[in-house]
Amino acid sequence: MLLSEREKEIRILHLVREKGAVSRQEISDRLSLNNSTVSILVVRMIKEKLLQEKGRGTSRGGRKPSLLQLNPSQAYFIGLDMEAVALRGMVSDFAFQKLAYIKKDISPQETRSSILKKIISLLNELIEKSGIDRGKISGIGIGAPGLIDPDTGVVISHALMPHWENVPLKDVLYAECHLPIFVENNTRTRLLAEKWFGVGKEAQNIICIDVRSGIGTGILVNGQMYKGASNSAGEIAHVCVDKNGPLCACGRRGCLEAVASELSILKTASRIKRKKVDIEEFWQELEAGNKKWEELLQRAGRYLGLVVAQLIDFFNPELIIVEGRLIRREDTFIEEIRKTAKENALSLPYQKVRILPSTLGEEGGCLGSAAWVWKENYGGGRV
Ligand SMILES: [Zn+2]
Repeated sequence: MLLSEREKEIRILHLVREKGAVSRQEISDRLSLNNSTVSILVVRMIKEKLLQEKGRGTSRGGRKPSLLQLNPSQAYFIGLDMEAVALRGMVSDFAFQKLAYIKKDISPQETRSSILKKIISLLNELIEKSGIDRGKISGIGIGAPGLIDPDTGVVISHALMPHWENVPLKDVLYAECHLPIFVENNTRTRLLAEKWFGVGKEAQNIICIDVRSGIGTGILVNGQMYKGASNSAGEIAHVCVDKNGPLCACGRRGCLEAVASELSILKTASRIKRKKVDIEEFWQELEAGNKKWEELLQRAGRYLGLVVAQLIDFFNPELIIVEGRLIRREDTFIEEIRKTAKENALSLPYQKVRILPSTLGEEGGCLGSAAWVWKENYGGGRV
């Protein structure tokens, strides 16, 4: 297959991104390009400030080869990560180093105009905090919850946020910032972060489960992101796991989200204590030995494990990543998911799958949104 110059550049950029630092010889070996082609392309890419030299690597005999890395100051990105209870934003450079990070709380009941105002002020605060000239920011990536149309950048709906419906997020933010805006479902931006920077680096078939205020999954099939016919693939939040369970925000009973999300657990904890319990307090009390909280977490893990077992049977993934603030202690939540999945999935696919907690923490979603801009602007749209 004959590759265009542009395609070769994209492959080189992705390789440097993956490896952090590579020699010209390694580029040539890994991408099956001849040395003189690599040499010419690298000179051009250094001139375009996409790459820069980074000291010397280890020698295979003779002179140590010089290494190439992404040029951090080539461009800057803003990555926003949104859920029903919080907005998180990050400014990243071209090599994905964090320059600023801010989190703001929101309420699921907030009006559309109030949330939009908070997003716009978050963007302005981020730019100011980062010290980066507005003109050097090459785009804003937004991972938003619920059903999204990525082409128009419209948020169609989100069961947890009654006033957040048919929001032309891309148009509103473009009118404000005049920067390219990319709106995606927050489970996919998160999946991108896990694939590029997290525990998913080596895997090609991944389900990444976000357990936050809501529950959703990002799906990677043979290294490609799977979005489905109407961009809603992976919406497992409203799968019924208990017909007699509590009422869900969608109006039905016993949905997974109503029994296993962070919001549902905190709601139950608040009901038991007859006062509002937040996630920090929940964790402090759990660490202090609160058996009730331990049981809540185990029960949530069992419900999620049942759905994970079905995902394993149906999809046969090599990796399931579980992400969210309930996963601070490996032994309770993750162990319960593993145990239930093992009991309920077929043994052949279960033996192949690893169920791992994310290691990227709360900021991982922002990193994924920033990476989304990199992917669209420089990476040929490729995961
Ligand atoms: Zn529901």
